[in-house]
Amino acid sequence: MEIDLPTLMLAGSFITAASGVFLVFAWLQNREATGMLWWAAGNFVLAAAVPIVASKDIVFGMPSTVFGILLLNISPALIWAAASACNGRKPHVSGIAAGAVVWLLAFSLPVIREQPAAQVTLNLAVICIYFMAAATEFWRGRAEPLQSRWPLVVLLFLHGLFFLAGTIDAALSDPETLREAMIGNWFKLIHFETLVFVVGTAIFTVAMAKERAEHRYLEAARVDPLTGVANRRAFMETAESLLRRCQMEDAPLSIVLFDLDHFKAINDTFGHSSGDRVLQKFTALARDLLRSTDYMARPGGEEFAMLLPGSSRGAAYVVAERIRAAFAEATCTCAGDGHEIRATVSAGVATAGPSSTLDSLIAEADRMLYSAKAEGRNRVKTGERTIEPPRSPDAPMVAAA
Ligand code: GH3
Ligand code: MG
Ligand code: MG
Repeated sequence: MEIDLPTLMLAGSFITAASGVFLVFAWLQNREATGMLWWAAGNFVLAAAVPIVASKDIVFGMPSTVFGILLLNISPALIWAAASACNGRKPHVSGIAAGAVVWLLAFSLPVIREQPAAQVTLNLAVICIYFMAAATEFWRGRAEPLQSRWPLVVLLFLHGLFFLAGTIDAALSDPETLREAMIGNWFKLIHFETLVFVVGTAIFTVAMAKERAEHRYLEAARVDPLTGVANRRAFMETAESLLRRCQMEDAPLSIVLFDLDHFKAINDTFGHSSGDRVLQKFTALARDLLRSTDYMARPGGEEFAMLLPGSSRGAAYVVAERIRAAFAEATCTCAGDGHEIRATVSAGVATAGPSSTLDSLIAEADRMLYSAKAEGRNRVKTGERTIEPPRSPDAPMVAAA
């Protein structure tokens, strides 16, 4: 089947422009994802470049081929910029302009100006470098687990390879027959391949932005916005799986429930925002004292829960006591008048046995917490031993001017 080349080029331009519109539309719905906008710009420039290269006019004082090749160099640069933006990096303006500058400088040299083969080789090499750089950019961001990243890496890499083949072909071709060669197989194939590339990358770029947004929503649904630690939902899920794993491995799992003492009075005395600061202070302090394998959550209000996999009752007690003592010593500056707020916390520790369920474990820690409160607060209780606080037992928070 013979396909008329101008028709193919026109259809390609139209589809490339339509993909650009699709990307702009997707960006309008998710304006944080600026990569889609850069990619759309790349597609629009490519859509304009193809008919300009093919025409025999003067554009902005330049022969249309020179101006068209300039656009052909800018389009992949914009796609490379899109890849940077998709990975949360700021695109480099100098990097984007480099391909175009190289082309204009090269064209100013008579040796290139009079050598169509050299022009084509240079143009294809620049395009190849940008697509390979864009593929590398997506590859570098792989620590963020997004499935739609991989089709983009593959499409960009294959597209880059295609241009590498074109570069080698043009470099090795006889300058006299280059024009015939270029309207031969590679030139036709690149139009088909570009259609697959343009449509495929538009779809996967949008899919990646959607996937990332979904991850963010899921993450937000599991994190307490005030303190940045896990919320009740995430805590229950993690606790279930950690308990199962520890029971399977026959390793201990301890849980510590903390409840700030007289927290209502702190709010009443210093205001709700000061209370919030105290919650943040406790979080920061406890985080510093936990191991990286421990898990901290704020199930609600002024209550915190910690899961300590591999920690026996005694070890968990020591950790809880360290946190309690550090918090009792710490001060927090009041949001309003700069008063120093001191607060205390009570804790209950429970350790899972082979037959424990999450409910029974939490109920046991809760019982211990209740008993720490009943015995005067500012203390840690386990089923086996308790600690007496260093200061007066039922010490409420004190404010020092
Ligand atoms: P206890 O020593 O017996 O635990 O007394 P308490 O005052 O700490 O306990 P209570 O349950 O009476 O009060 C808890 C308070 O915690 C009431 C509620 O307004 C406050 N609280 C819950 N969530 C937040 C929050 O996100 N920010 C602030 N500032 N206060 C909160
Ligand atoms: Mg409470
Ligand atoms: Mg409380």
